[in-house]
Amino acid sequence: MIHKNSTCKRTTGLVASELYFWHDTMNWCGFFEPTMTLQPGEHFENPETKRRMQNLLQATGLWDHLQLMAPDAASNDVIGLVHPQSHIDHLAAVCASGGGDTGALTPAGPASLDIARMAVGGVIVAVDAVMAGDVDNAYVLCRPPGHHALPELAMGFCLFANAAIGIRHAQKQHGVTRVATVDWDVHHGNGTEAIFLDDPSVLTISLHQTNLFPPDSGGTDVKGAGNSNLNIPLPPGSGSGAYREAFERVVIPALETFEPELIVIPCGFDASALDPLGIQMLASEDFRWMTRQVMAVADKHCSGRIVATHEGGYSATYVPYCGLAVVEELSGASNQFEDPFQDFVENYGGQALSNDQAAAIEQAHKAYFPR
Ligand SMILES: [Zn+2]
Repeated sequence: MIHKNSTCKRTTGLVASELYFWHDTMNWCGFFEPTMTLQPGEHFENPETKRRMQNLLQATGLWDHLQLMAPDAASNDVIGLVHPQSHIDHLAAVCASGGGDTGALTPAGPASLDIARMAVGGVIVAVDAVMAGDVDNAYVLCRPPGHHALPELAMGFCLFANAAIGIRHAQKQHGVTRVATVDWDVHHGNGTEAIFLDDPSVLTISLHQTNLFPPDSGGTDVKGAGNSNLNIPLPPGSGSGAYREAFERVVIPALETFEPELIVIPCGFDASALDPLGIQMLASEDFRWMTRQVMAVADKHCSGRIVATHEGGYSATYVPYCGLAVVEELSGASNQFEDPFQDFVENYGGQALSNDQAAAIEQAHKAYFPR
């Protein structure tokens, strides 16, 4: 109970629900439907990573210092801020038929539409609490994830664009003008990018492994209206040095220039060194450090207002430690849990910035700051 006697500098909201773990991604083989050569098994996006993160928050005692918030199911009108009714109807039809692939590699079970509504509703609850000042910041420990979902297509395990809907809600209900996203999931935040590509009021930033998922997505040439999209594709094998350089050279300057009134972190943990779907090398302390950088910008420009939405991360062993580090940092907990994997991962070869990583980051910098 490392956090039993913690004091927290901030009030951090945590949106959680047992029902998030009941979204059924079926017995797929990794991310493929079973065939005669693909043995049924476990889908990569299953409850375990998220459940274990929740368990660790509880076991360390940090849970008791968070402001727990229950999600509501989002209405069609709220989801309609991003998705047409036809998309909701399509998901309803697949779920009513007993489940199946709802789009591009995105399985859903019979209850998944209702649970996906709660993922959106969880982000809405978090945005409302942060904007009202009831909490300083918030973490939404939801499934299914959201950052790949397009308005008319479920994609990459994502049914609805949770974070994007939360941003539209913040603009509509709370009069927020400028919102920035910092997406450090190892995959490109293509859905968020597509939804706001023509909208200079939302700066979408994505750090991701070059050409991972979706294929041929996330290049530095996609700049959006009014320079409102920033992609930082990082070479496979990028670790602590590359991510820190990317933040200092590009992410932080872009946020400083944009001056957001709210920051949303589509927070994936699949850039960790132990993840089966990416081959980046981050340790929990890197996620803590990135959180601290975003918080410093948020403190300066928007009274610390941050909403983090849980995205990918497929190591059931390691996601909990990375997630705990983020929530510890958001809450300003006086104690820090010592990640048993930290020494092991930070001493991997290749954690230092390499020349090809520096060149990739410089290219992103030049694309975003052309002069
Ligand atoms: Zn991902």
